[in-house]
Amino acid sequence: MTVLRNATLADGRIADVSIAGGRIGAVTDPAPGPGTDLTGYVLLPSFVEPHAHLDKALTASTVDNPTGDLLGAIRAMHAAADRFTKDDIRRRADRAVRVMLAHGTTAIRTHVNVGSTMGMRALEALSEVRADWAGLVDLQLVALVGNPLGGEAGANLRDALRSGADIAGGCPHLDPEPDKAVAICLDAAGEAGTPIDLHTDETLDPAKLTLATLADLVSRTGFEHGATASHCVSLGVQPPDEQRRVSELVSAAGVAVVALPQTNLFLQGRDHPVGTPRGLTAVHALRRAGALVAAGGDNLRDPFHPVGRGDPLEVAALMVIAGHLGAADAVESVTAAPRAALGLPAVAVEPGAPADLVALRGEDLIAALGAADQDRLVWRGGRLVATTTVTRTLAAPPARSHP
Ligand SMILES: [Zn+2]
Repeated sequence: MTVLRNATLADGRIADVSIAGGRIGAVTDPAPGPGTDLTGYVLLPSFVEPHAHLDKALTASTVDNPTGDLLGAIRAMHAAADRFTKDDIRRRADRAVRVMLAHGTTAIRTHVNVGSTMGMRALEALSEVRADWAGLVDLQLVALVGNPLGGEAGANLRDALRSGADIAGGCPHLDPEPDKAVAICLDAAGEAGTPIDLHTDETLDPAKLTLATLADLVSRTGFEHGATASHCVSLGVQPPDEQRRVSELVSAAGVAVVALPQTNLFLQGRDHPVGTPRGLTAVHALRRAGALVAAGGDNLRDPFHPVGRGDPLEVAALMVIAGHLGAADAVESVTAAPRAALGLPAVAVEPGAPADLVALRGEDLIAALGAADQDRLVWRGGRLVATTTVTRTLAAPPARSHP
């Protein structure tokens, strides 16, 4: 048995947390004894990344996005695709997983480009990375196909779901027939018995609203494998009544929404130099309607988002700054909410829960979120799997004489 002593919990209590058999045994008042002293650390459920692109990660230095928008990024990756061998993709994805685990992430859903210039090699590479990290970091692979879904892309999606992809993906808002594209993806997921996770309405064009189509189809067909809509940018620019109507459809259908503030802030709004929109989904309307809203990091230093550090605290901070959530809700959007969206067992710092935990330096939750110190400890199934210790040395302030 391990005991984590003097940990600050999310609600501010100080407690000792015992771990046995991969689970939390007891949460008790602090007492002297052996164990790991977490004085000055906040202990939380580990992070879950609900939306990554590990096959594209860490390419920003070599692939430029000259226009800075979504189509510029897609074109840039397309033109560079030949450079991305299976080995190269595997190496970069592995580096990105290591970065994310060190930050406290123990499960990642990554979209993986399939078909077109990429063929199946990114899926093969990511399938190997998924096997390499099994038991430490759970990887879910979403087959991300191009358009039109009514053509070869639809066949590629079915192929990928037979060849190791866990989830059906796609970008219906970029399709010549967006509503039909949603239906094709949903059919493919239903046939394969997998969840669906679509890049949904990643545009500020209010006329594109396939989120409503997805929610409606999920409800009408009784699709029961789990549906997630990522981005949902155009919902954020609808009038309040429309935001409410669609959010209620989404909530009733049980479709989870993933907000992706980093990539949306970078790619969206370039045609609006004055009063530039943030490109976030309608976080508050969705939450008011009872929909599940998680937040993810999306792209890690690639043409879609050239900066970022693969840290859910960066995402949570943006949900405070740009999404106007409180600190506790923002942290929940990178812990409990994505865990539910990905269909993973719930984790809380409570007896009986899986001991998938992260300790963050800080006297309380808001200090830990604000400082985002790199000093962290990460446990998976009760085993300490990552430790980062930062050494900082400052010169003493100059002495001065007091009058
Ligand atoms: Zn994405």
